[in-house]
Amino acid sequence: MARERLYLFDTTLRDGAQTNGVDFTLADKLAIARMLDELGIDYVEGGYPGANPTDTELFSADRKLGTTFTAFGMTRRPGRSASNDPGLAALLDAHADAICFVAKSWDYHVRVALETTEEENIASIRDSVRAAKARGKEVLLDCEHFFDGYKANPEFALACAKAAYEEGARWVVLCDTNGGTLPHEVERIVGAVCKAIPGDHVGIHAHNDTEQAVANSFAAVLAGARQIQGTLNGLGERCGNANLVSIIPTLKLKREFADRFETGISEGALRKLAQVSHALDERLNRAPNRHAPYVGESAFATKAGIHASAILKDPATYEHVAPESVGNKRKVLVSEQAGKSNVLAELERIGIKVDKNDPRVARLLEVVKERETIGYAYEAADASFELLARRTLGRVPDYFEVTQFDVNVEQRFNAKGEQVTVAMAVVKVKVGDDSLISAAEGNGPVNALDQALRKDLGKYQKFIEGLTLTDYRVRILNAGTEAVTRVLIESEDENGERWTTVGVSPNIIDASFQALMDSVIFKLVKSGAPA
Ligand SMILES: [Zn+2]
Repeated sequence: MARERLYLFDTTLRDGAQTNGVDFTLADKLAIARMLDELGIDYVEGGYPGANPTDTELFSADRKLGTTFTAFGMTRRPGRSASNDPGLAALLDAHADAICFVAKSWDYHVRVALETTEEENIASIRDSVRAAKARGKEVLLDCEHFFDGYKANPEFALACAKAAYEEGARWVVLCDTNGGTLPHEVERIVGAVCKAIPGDHVGIHAHNDTEQAVANSFAAVLAGARQIQGTLNGLGERCGNANLVSIIPTLKLKREFADRFETGISEGALRKLAQVSHALDERLNRAPNRHAPYVGESAFATKAGIHASAILKDPATYEHVAPESVGNKRKVLVSEQAGKSNVLAELERIGIKVDKNDPRVARLLEVVKERETIGYAYEAADASFELLARRTLGRVPDYFEVTQFDVNVEQRFNAKGEQVTVAMAVVKVKVGDDSLISAAEGNGPVNALDQALRKDLGKYQKFIEGLTLTDYRVRILNAGTEAVTRVLIESEDENGERWTTVGVSPNIIDASFQALMDSVIFKLVKSGAPA
């Protein structure tokens, strides 16, 4: 049986831009649009041309994308003609393949917010769709507050949607603007709408205010809708929009959907999904959500001993899909409660071959437990664990030695008479027979130390050129009688690979230094730097 086509519409650049703390530049928008295009998303909504300089610029020229690049804006204002509305004109003039209009579909909003009549609202929808069609655009209508509107006055809500469809809109999108509608309500209402408008012209736009935007999107599809709108990583105002990063793998990997529907996402693109999700976080300077379904660092992580030993025998025992299918990795956590099976599983995953009865495995487990007692956290610091394992097994070369470091923090007045705090670090390193000294300033002591350490590693410098620190987290722990500091550092290299290292000490600089050293050495090991 031929599968039905289901369309994906991304609004990261429009609705996602409403997220608290998110402010896309033009370069961000172009890069994200390209990423979405490569992923195989059918529609990418870029923003509101005419509403702000970034979006106006974005729509001022053709971007040469395969996706249907969509401009968003209001239908003509009440009481004006379509030809005499500057907002509508800007939208029609934008370089876009499609226009997504937003219109009211809740009678209460028409009266109170728009202060016009139901008839004028419907006339505005008709005129706007007609005007965009006349300019050769594909047209979508976002019916704002559709579900609340339908509950209050089903005839009027449906009349708004039908007006757009009758004028030739390709899609009528039912929006749960306030995000409070529940899946069974979505299914019932979308089912009713699909009796009046064919489902292959109906879309769903769900917000996540009850943590059910993804579930609501699927409920709409099961009731007949054939377009899903959402954002990468569920970005969006308040609690966010439906998360396409969760929706896509479910559509591709779960038989209920995979057997019935086809999307524009290839298997190859699906295998890059985790990378796309993390690349967006990187651009937003946010740490990725470890617990994100499918793509989070913990999505395929197992802790308890019996689970880990079963996973070693057959991964399907505790995994609902294969982690590689979405570009993720299986991870067996090494923790205080860990048994030997976890350690063996993790060694196997990182490609260290060792006999399970090798006494060094028991020794490694002992060291992990000892160090976790004093504050190390190896389940969060995969790279530090790998180094510890390789060291215990005698497989890490002594690339270089830091013989001395010195960090100074000084508060003083600069030449302009302003009070400034300056940090400076000096690091002495021995690489083979060479003694190297580097000094660097930083915005803080750890930054200065990092800059100085990575400034000159002699013959190893070329291996660490692409290394960057992406996250730095500090926690004060009470281990025994003394308070100690645990530092976790996340690093990334030129290939987009990420790893985390840990350091523990009563002194924050020392803890940071341990984590920095582990990160640099881990990079040398990964790059196959010669001893
Ligand atoms: Zn929205």
